[in-house]
Amino acid sequence: MSARQIAGPEPADATVDRTLECAQASAQASAQSAALTATPADAAAPQRARNGTRYRGRFAPSPTGPLHAGSLVAALASWLDARAHDGQWLIRIEDIDPPREVAGCAHQIIATLARFGLHSDAPVLWQSERGEHYAAALDSLLEQGLAYRCTCSRREVDEAAAGDRWPDRIYRGRCRNGCEPARTTWSWRLRVDATVPLAFTDRAAGEIEQDVARDVGDFVLRRSDSLWAYQLAVVVDDAAQAITDVVRGADLLDNTARQIYLQRSLALATPRYLHLPVVRNASGEKLSKQTGARPLRGDNAVAELEQAWQHLGFAPPGADAPAAFLRHAVPLWRERWLRADTIAAPWDSAATSFPHERPNGR
Ligand SMILES: [Zn+2]
Repeated sequence: MSARQIAGPEPADATVDRTLECAQASAQASAQSAALTATPADAAAPQRARNGTRYRGRFAPSPTGPLHAGSLVAALASWLDARAHDGQWLIRIEDIDPPREVAGCAHQIIATLARFGLHSDAPVLWQSERGEHYAAALDSLLEQGLAYRCTCSRREVDEAAAGDRWPDRIYRGRCRNGCEPARTTWSWRLRVDATVPLAFTDRAAGEIEQDVARDVGDFVLRRSDSLWAYQLAVVVDDAAQAITDVVRGADLLDNTARQIYLQRSLALATPRYLHLPVVRNASGEKLSKQTGARPLRGDNAVAELEQAWQHLGFAPPGADAPAAFLRHAVPLWRERWLRADTIAAPWDSAATSFPHERPNGR
């Protein structure tokens, strides 16, 4: 269990700046996105994916800041993969961590995506409205004896992990057989008993395996502040939205095995995964709100799309509008990523080892 998985809010100064950014755009954005969220599913009947199931992909930002070059890459790649499969693309707002969120940003992100020509094919799903579904999943795990109450403080988790060879706070199940009854707050953890490494195939990185019990430990499902953990929410919602394909940044590759473990514990289907290289700044840090990524507004939509396209390894076509760019990009994406069942690996940077950490904000 990483400290970052239960990380608190970012420094107040950064939050204030982004609050202003988002507030300025939010009035205009909310009007646009209100219309978007009401947009019915695409009337054009999607084709079926190769395995016979209708392809459904998603882009699932956390509203902790505006869209930036890094998140646009993830949005564009997931949209292109959906369109290349003649499938559907959904937007899900992962707003389950209010202390980290910035007012107005969710609507601003949706409106900015629209300026790039990226529209959700179904009403936007808001995780903040999904608590009863996460509670039902936790109940199911409790009934199976797969979840338990943990009263350990962060300091106790640290102390218990001291001496571990892993550079992380991996929780070893101290409360599995009962915890401090006098404590008034607790988290809920998943009991991870796998003794065999969990293996899956990533469409970019190839064969991946991770020993979830050893490398992750009993991870949190619901935090001691009552907020739902990202891992539980994402697994429940991928299933609820019938997501067949997850396309996202390689920084989340490390989360995938535990999500599959949780899917199996809940008897949910496992989607296919495609993890793409993350965008880094000049210092080599992942481009994010935390590393000072410049917000995108879609003011120069074609140039920004083409920059994301170049990051994905393609040459910019010099389109004159987002729609023209997207029309150009879909067949090229199809050619690269949908050939037979081959695992393409056009770059070296897709991480195949696990850093034992969870990115900020997820
Ligand atoms: Zn505990």
